[in-house]
Amino acid sequence: MTQTDRSIPQPNDGVMQIAAYVPGRDKAAPGVRLHKLSSNETPLGASPAAIEAYRQAADTLQIYPDGSAAALRTAIANVHGLNPDNIVCSNGSDELLGLLASTYIGPGDEGIFTEHGFLVYKIQILAAGGTPVVVPETDHRADVDTILAAVTERTKIVFLANPNNPTGTYLSDAEVRRLHAGLPPHVVLVLDAAYAEYVRRNDYASGIELVSANRNVVMTRTFSKIHGLAALRIGWLYGPAEIVDALNRVRGPFNVNAPAIAAGAAAIADRAHVDKAIAHNDTWLPKLTEAFEALGLKVTPSVGNFVLIHFPDDDPDRSAAAADAWLVQRGYVLRQVVPYGLPNALRMTIGTDEANKGVIEALTAFMKR
Ligand SMILES: *Cc1c(COP(=O)(O)O)cnc(C)c1O
Repeated sequence: MTQTDRSIPQPNDGVMQIAAYVPGRDKAAPGVRLHKLSSNETPLGASPAAIEAYRQAADTLQIYPDGSAAALRTAIANVHGLNPDNIVCSNGSDELLGLLASTYIGPGDEGIFTEHGFLVYKIQILAAGGTPVVVPETDHRADVDTILAAVTERTKIVFLANPNNPTGTYLSDAEVRRLHAGLPPHVVLVLDAAYAEYVRRNDYASGIELVSANRNVVMTRTFSKIHGLAALRIGWLYGPAEIVDALNRVRGPFNVNAPAIAAGAAAIADRAHVDKAIAHNDTWLPKLTEAFEALGLKVTPSVGNFVLIHFPDDDPDRSAAAADAWLVQRGYVLRQVVPYGLPNALRMTIGTDEANKGVIEALTAFMKR
């Protein structure tokens, strides 16, 4: 900015370049039952144990939460075999992405993410005053060499959603390790593993081992997806001591609220509930993929709890926008992904049996009409 308008307060550089995040819609056409398949929420709901813990927390709402969220960090550490000292909890993992950006990126610094990567990375890099560097993907998949080629002296963070939202694709453990090996030691590699629990591939790793062995890698996770606690906003990070220390200085002292701490600790301990969600996903991910492909639609191979459906580019009557309008009329609310550089695709969250069958039926009618 060369000349500053001093007649009113001016936001920091970068802020007005941000396109505000647009959440998945939650309204169907009037009079039809809503099936919200727009935000990758679980169709199973939260664990009954988590709901009970949340209710009990209502009795002590006048008391500040434990600012260190110790009960939640311990519950997470127990499940994943981690040292709780290396865990930071947050108000949704989105908060961690912002804390990482504001802690490591300043004006003039660069943050890298990929072409169809999660939109929050760009927002947080800009909010920190940094420069977003977007690198191309190959077949809707991050490419290690392309990312490494974009690294400069000014690079501070590489954000990688693995698996990625909205594409559902992933990088193998070997590829992530090659990416890390190619980064200078001062660059933070952020592995956003929001969908790790859903992945059923032997060559995948969420990043725990890579974090444990290095000082410049962190893994973020969320309770919003498989644990069904999106409304409570709980995320966590596993990282090396120095990064954890820095984040603990910057974060709000009570960033995770008490009902969230209680419900989150109960949710992650309920492994049967998690297994149920995995089994439901394993049933429907291939079924939905095959059903849409049978209609002549291209589906990006997904390892998450959602599928990216591509509509024909040469048929305006069968565009993603037309399909979206058709589905909303029938109560099925999917996600348009135009801001992700995917103008002719829709992302569908795997829903209940009823919702999944309904979308297959509705899209079949849409394609054949
Ligand atoms: C849903 C999602 C998150 C989780 O966000 P919360 O703030 O924890 O609800 C993080 N990263 C990606 C890629 C996601 O899709």
